[in-house]
Amino acid sequence: MHRSSRKLALLFLLLILLPVALLTWRSVDSLRDERESVQAEALLLGGPLQDALGRLLGSLTQGMAYADPRGLDLAAYESFPEVAQAFRVNAAGRLEYPLYLPLPLGERHPAFAVAMARAEALELGDGGYATVREAYREAWRRAVSGAEEAEVLNAQGRAALAAGDLTTAAEAHRQLGLYGLSFDADGAHPATLSHLRLAEHLGPVQGLPVLADWARALLTGRYPLFPGIRQSLGAAQALVGRWPADQGGNRALKADLDRVERRLTFAERFAGPAALQLPPQTGYACGSLADGTPFLVFARRLSDGSAVGLSFDMEPLRAALQRTAAGERLAQRGFDVELLAPGATDAFSVTHRATISRVLVAGEWLGGLHLGIWAVDSSSAVSYYRKRNLAVLSAIFLLVGFVALGGYVLLRDTHREVRLARLRSDFVANVSHELRTPLAAIRINAETVLAGRYRNPERRDEFLRAIVRESERLSRLVDNIMAFAQLDSGRLVYDFQPCQLAAVVRGALEPIEPQLRYRGFRLDLAIAEDLPPLRADRSALGIAVANLLANAAKYSTERLEIAVRVATYGDGQVVEVADRGIGVPPSERARIFEKFYRASNAGAAQVAGAGVGLALTRSIAEAHGGRVELVARPSGGSRFRLVLPTARS
Ligand code: ADP
Repeated sequence: MHRSSRKLALLFLLLILLPVALLTWRSVDSLRDERESVQAEALLLGGPLQDALGRLLGSLTQGMAYADPRGLDLAAYESFPEVAQAFRVNAAGRLEYPLYLPLPLGERHPAFAVAMARAEALELGDGGYATVREAYREAWRRAVSGAEEAEVLNAQGRAALAAGDLTTAAEAHRQLGLYGLSFDADGAHPATLSHLRLAEHLGPVQGLPVLADWARALLTGRYPLFPGIRQSLGAAQALVGRWPADQGGNRALKADLDRVERRLTFAERFAGPAALQLPPQTGYACGSLADGTPFLVFARRLSDGSAVGLSFDMEPLRAALQRTAAGERLAQRGFDVELLAPGATDAFSVTHRATISRVLVAGEWLGGLHLGIWAVDSSSAVSYYRKRNLAVLSAIFLLVGFVALGGYVLLRDTHREVRLARLRSDFVANVSHELRTPLAAIRINAETVLAGRYRNPERRDEFLRAIVRESERLSRLVDNIMAFAQLDSGRLVYDFQPCQLAAVVRGALEPIEPQLRYRGFRLDLAIAEDLPPLRADRSALGIAVANLLANAAKYSTERLEIAVRVATYGDGQVVEVADRGIGVPPSERARIFEKFYRASNAGAAQVAGAGVGLALTRSIAEAHGGRVELVARPSGGSRFRLVLPTARS
């Protein structure tokens, strides 16, 4: 390889192949582990989820954060499914909304207690409705507090209903409405008892408004939430459950009861003064209750130390997050998400140990809330990434292959160019030499004859023959170079005519035969004269044959034998020129037909030449639809074959 192309190869290796190899190695390395890819993907999907959650919470809390605190309609927030409960706490941290009263046990006044006990004994002992009624009237008169009055009203309603006195029962129930915040001494809520009893007695159609009224009263705060109401709520829900579902208002009532339950749950959880762990400033707090229930609250601190806020349950919030675009994309990729309180992240990782999971902070300002993302079906996620990584890897390898191929082609072309340039410069040197040698010989011989420096006429003829021989060599060389130049520049135009191959060969032999004989060659001719004509450019074909003959003469040094044969060959014809000269080394047999190429032993044998003769011969042969080839001759020398097709008639 030439020096400059070796440098180029080195440069190519250093500047292109090395970085490509490095990059490939890096990417192969990073793509090898599919689990890592899945985790990276989970992390990548986490960003949009964080944004979506931020937007979701922001839209819910914004109104509460900026509105005039006096005008805040807390109940309105409860219609958002993501909001578990709206709340208000006073400066001491006690829950004011929703209102939840502690178990209100009290003492009955002795006189009232006696009257009440007597009435109840009569009611149980079947003392007759009129007597019972009178006994309760007596108790009413003894009642001193609202609580005692409410207790009597409830008992009167109960007794009236049992006796079928609906008017009195309804009246007692109506009056009880005025004692919404009153409890009896045992902590029961007389109004609630009355609602439930009446509703049950009246049945689905008339009972429904009675229950609906009760739920509304609880939701609007006319009745308080209190320990023990859960039992009544359960009874109410069971009652509604037994009523026909398609009845008008039934669904609304059920929804109201559900809301009551939500409030109750919240109140039960957070009613204790320290239970609601609110952030010190307006913002979010997140944690877990003693029973492990996670919570997320937003609170707005007001100037007087009280606060309003919203509490979120994780499940509805998570469902809302799953419905966002980011959540849907997550599901499409085979992942799911969970909202985690700060203390729950480890448990999450343990639960999802078998699959691929990732925990990340849900948002800087979300009080430590975390997002847990995991591949629902980790084997399918991994196989997806395996496929994708494989595709990327193949693409990378393909690319590397192309780069290497490109480099190879580039190097090969440059190498070829460099070689051609070198051959061309050799050619110029060879041609100059080729021209100078016969010219010098002609001059010396001509001068000798002119000066009369010869001993006898035979010597003079010898000088003159030398002049003829050298000038023929010169003109053949010039012919060759001219034809070759025409060929090289694409200006060689062939004139195809019918002609006899034997005539062409004889024409080419004629000028060199005398000197062959003179040099002592044994010429062995076997020329078939009766072959069908060819379609050929006679002079071009002449040049081609003359080249083969001249080479045979030129490259024969010891055994001076040339055999020329013209014969049919397959369905064409052949001119074969064989010699016993220096031959061509096997490794160079194909290359001697390239332009400017000279076999290594030609130089060693000090035979002059320009390296264009065979190239010219080959293109002439091909222009005639034929070929030229060198056939191995194990016994020494070369055998060239010029094969031509016979003209079709
Ligand atoms: P040149 O002017 O060098 O002879 P050619 O194109 O005619 O150019 O031949 C190309 C090369 O092929 C020669 O340099 C020589 O090495 C080899 N060659 C051609 N003919 C013969 C032959 N008859 N015997 C040995 N070598 C030959």
